Amino acid sequence: MTRKKVIVTGGAGFIGSALARHLVLEEDAEVVVIDKMTYAANRANIASAEATGRCRLIVEDICHQQAMTDIVAREKPQQILHLAAESHVDRSISGPRDFVETNVIGTYAMLEAARAYWAGLKGAEKDDFRFLHVSTDEVYGSLGPEGLFHETTPYDPSSPYSASKAASDHLAKAWFRTYGLPVVVSNCSNNYGPYHFPEKLIPLVILNALEGKELPVYGDGSNIRDWLYVEDHARALSLIATKGELGETYNVGGRNERTNLQVVEKICDELDKLVPGERPRRELIRFVTDRPGHDHRYAIDATKLETDLGWRAQENFETGLAKTVRWYLDNADWWTPLRKTVYSGERLGLSEPQKA
Ligand code: NAD
Repeated sequence: MTRKKVIVTGGAGFIGSALARHLVLEEDAEVVVIDKMTYAANRANIASAEATGRCRLIVEDICHQQAMTDIVAREKPQQILHLAAESHVDRSISGPRDFVETNVIGTYAMLEAARAYWAGLKGAEKDDFRFLHVSTDEVYGSLGPEGLFHETTPYDPSSPYSASKAASDHLAKAWFRTYGLPVVVSNCSNNYGPYHFPEKLIPLVILNALEGKELPVYGDGSNIRDWLYVEDHARALSLIATKGELGETYNVGGRNERTNLQVVEKICDELDKLVPGERPRRELIRFVTDRPGHDHRYAIDATKLETDLGWRAQENFETGLAKTVRWYLDNADWWTPLRKTVYSGERLGLSEPQKA
């Protein structure tokens, strides 16, 4: 059997690298990563995949149309799994421009590059080609205390990040309906796990708690997120790209709703167990000004993915979090330089005008 060849955009980031590692190490695929290498990227994330000789990194901006068209034509992939994005809600509040450029214009450039390549294919190569657009459940807006996001939930994004992802989802669907490009879309809940850049809640809290620093919790900590271990997401993405029905959306989530305060407390308890400190780490928790436009609750109904494609999350929040905390304890070499030079934990995303 010939080896599957896949382009993964954003493959040096958190989820993209989990997907690249999964494809190369678990599925014996060949992966070409296209990544601009922003602050969120790290080549170490794909070192194990690169070591096999079946993963290559191309450093390029997905907004560069000609470069994307040339790369896709030259690499001749069977699938394009599109994850490159600006991904941090707080940064989208402080500086939305990059989000519109990468998430909207960049997705447009990838769709056009894929369309030009696909139009020239014939027979089985044309029939089997897939473009998976990877998105978030944040496009659906905020839930009240009851109910779940379904694939049919109307879009109602709140932040510049989710609005830019919503726009890109619509472009992907339009390229299917208008041009017939074989597109599938996935919308996933909050991910966590190894190699997560320490600006996001879980790694930030693990590292601050380890260093005895304050643990910021937005508002009263009652906002609810539905957490999924990143390797479960990577398996879902590969499955959706291969077996998903064209033009369809698949919601991905692990049925692990937790308030932010519960998440932070759980991390404190896990660390107290593994590396006991002088005082319980829960004492480091500080409630801080809420994020503007902070959605109250996200929760995913993943029934379609489970029933139609047979996917199941392998980790629940307790097992996934224990693995994650262990990984950060064992991989200080990965995060120490990031904390020192790239991002040391300062507050981002308050919408007040920035001081000069
Ligand atoms: P990330 O920020 O860790 O990684 C994004 C990657 O994209 C980085 O490697 C970055 O260098 C690259 N990139 C950014 N701009 C680029 C550009 N112009 N050209 C080429 N590469 C560029 O993000 P992530 O958390 O891994 O998210 C990946 C995808 O999954 C995103 O599309 C995001 O919207 C989606 N998603 C994320 C979550 C989550 O919980 N993190 C949940 C659902 C969906």
